[in-house]
Amino acid sequence: MTRPGPEAPDEASWDKAVAALTGPDEVVLACHVSPDGDALGSMLALAHALLRRGSRVLASFGEPFDVPASLRGLPGVDLLVRPDRVPAAPALLATFDTGSVDRLGGLADRVRRAGEVLVVDHHASNTGFGTVHLVDPAAPATAVLVDELVRRLGVPLDADIAACLYAGLVTDTGSFRFAGTTPATHQLAARLLATGFRHDLLARELFDTHPFGWLPMAGAVLARARLEPAEVGGLGLVWTETRTADLAARGLGLDQAESLVDLVRTAQEAEVAAVLKELPQGGWAVSVRSKGRVNVGAACTALGGGGHRFAAGFTSHAGLEETVAMLRAALAGAPRPAVGDA
Ligand code: 5GP
Ligand code: MN
Repeated sequence: MTRPGPEAPDEASWDKAVAALTGPDEVVLACHVSPDGDALGSMLALAHALLRRGSRVLASFGEPFDVPASLRGLPGVDLLVRPDRVPAAPALLATFDTGSVDRLGGLADRVRRAGEVLVVDHHASNTGFGTVHLVDPAAPATAVLVDELVRRLGVPLDADIAACLYAGLVTDTGSFRFAGTTPATHQLAARLLATGFRHDLLARELFDTHPFGWLPMAGAVLARARLEPAEVGGLGLVWTETRTADLAARGLGLDQAESLVDLVRTAQEAEVAAVLKELPQGGWAVSVRSKGRVNVGAACTALGGGGHRFAAGFTSHAGLEETVAMLRAALAGAPRPAVGDA
């Protein structure tokens, strides 16, 4: 079926992207707030490639400027600069995994003031806010596009670039389990692994490492999960929430709540899973996942957020019950992709 939204980049866009990255002395890179493995991995991979070519690079993301614990081992994290060190009007700004300007948080104003804005992304909902776009909704991760960009820049893959790209690939494909994974995804993984970085250590850091306090926190949060079989037109909703106190009591940051939705979504009786994460400043960051029969990206977009068809989110300033009620209503009316449509 034809998908709405952007098409894969054409040759002219690739040429423009390479030309844009070849011009200025200094390149500013930015990814979305609360970066995940694909956002940070894609950005740092290109940072390494540009450094190899002799460019000056500034890489950052909007406040809160905290690198999630699971990503602190990525090569090049030490290259990151605080957002207040990003020039007000960069000659070239390149953004990664960022579907719309607001997702840049405090760096959003740089888009208006930059000379050129290169947008590298795989959100079908990408709003096209740049001057050059490498946006492919069929790509399972932004990292796939960065791999091609690095190749076109003439920089050979090395272990640092590969580890960053692998972090993006393995994060956004759910360790190669999601429907967007293709033979080409595995071929890219093979090329990355051939550089010799320790993928086992990286995967352990990304997915399998938590402070001990995470265990009782997850236990408490999962113990209060609610199953609502009648919601989503009878397909079922399962949801829970993390309170600031759940995390604070165990000395955990908000990033430690990110992976909980992957546990909640294993509930067989529900098509859609949600985790509402209480924000320190009030309100809720909501993560929503579908098993493939409901377009939760559309539901979250209707609620002021965004994302992909089967992994999306939004931010709510309402109370808990009201936020869940809004989500139930949006899911009831959400599009249903044809079965088997990846
Ligand atoms: P997560 O639930 O892992 O935070 O995010 C899943 C996907 O939903 C991300 O790829 C991101 O595109 C999208 N997303 C999550 N939260 C928001 C939000 O508040 N606004 C928008 N526009 N997208 C979001
Ligand atoms: Mn992504």
